[in-house]
Amino acid sequence: MLNVSHLTKKYNKFTANDNLTFMVSDGETAVLAGPNGAGKSTAIKCIAGLLRFNGEIEICGAKNKSVEAKRYLGYIPEIPAPFELLTVWEHMEFIARAYRLTDWEDRAKELMRRFELTDKRDKLGKELSKGMQQKISICCALVIDPKVVLFDEPFVGLDPHAIKELKAMLNEMKAKGTTIIISTHMLDSVDDIWDRVFIMMNGKIEAERSRKQVEESGENLEELFFGITESKTEREEEAE
Ligand code: ADP
Repeated sequence: MLNVSHLTKKYNKFTANDNLTFMVSDGETAVLAGPNGAGKSTAIKCIAGLLRFNGEIEICGAKNKSVEAKRYLGYIPEIPAPFELLTVWEHMEFIARAYRLTDWEDRAKELMRRFELTDKRDKLGKELSKGMQQKISICCALVIDPKVVLFDEPFVGLDPHAIKELKAMLNEMKAKGTTIIISTHMLDSVDDIWDRVFIMMNGKIEAERSRKQVEESGENLEELFFGITESKTEREEEAE
C-alpha cells in the first residue's frame, strides 16, 4: 500500500508538487496522468525517496526513506541508467546482493527470458540499446519481488513484445496484491490496466476517478483529461 500525504516539492521557488494527498491500495493499479511538466516524475521520485520534500509518504506503513520501505519498493525510472561495466547478469547479481535476496536466480532468469535478454546475459550495460536498458531496469526492479512498484513512463522505448509482456506481468503482480503506480502522459497506453487515475496539472491532482466510477457514470476519461489539461492551459494563456 502507498500513502502520500500533503506532498509538496519545490525546486528553489518553483512548486512542482503542490500538496498532493492520495492512496493506492494493495492490488490496485493507479495511474498518474498529466501532460509534460505536470509534476508526475517529481512525485514518483519523491515516493522513491530520491528527493527531499515536505509531507509524508509511507510504503506499506513504513516511512519511504526507511530501509524497510526500500525493501518493499521497486522503481523504474523514465531514463534507464545501467552500470556501464556490469553485464546484464551482473546487474541481477548486484541487486540480489544489495537486497540480500535468497533463491533469486530462477526469478532473474525468468524475467530475462520474458524480456528476451537471455542471450544478452554477458553484454555490458554500455553495449545495450535504449530498449534493452529499459528492460534491464525493469528486471532489476522486479527481481526483488516488490510490494509497491513505481513505473515512470514505462512504455516509452519498449518494443511491442516487451509492452505485451510487461502488461501481462502487471496483471500477475496485481493479482498477488502488488501496489502499482504508473506515470504517463498517454492515457491510451494504460487503458486496459488502470483501476484508479489521478489527473495532474501544474503540480496538483485536479481529478481522481476509480474505474468503477467511470464505468458507472459513463464519463469519458479522455474528455475529462483534455477538459482539465486544455482548459487550464487556455486560462493560463488568457491570463498572460
Ligand atoms: P512530468 O513528469 O509530469 O513531465 P516533472 O515532474 O518532470 O513533470 O516536472 C514538473 C516541473 O518541475 C516542470 O516544470 C519541470 O521543468 C520542473 N522540474 C523538474 N525537475 C526539475 C529540476 N531538477 N530543477 C528544476 N525544475 C525541475
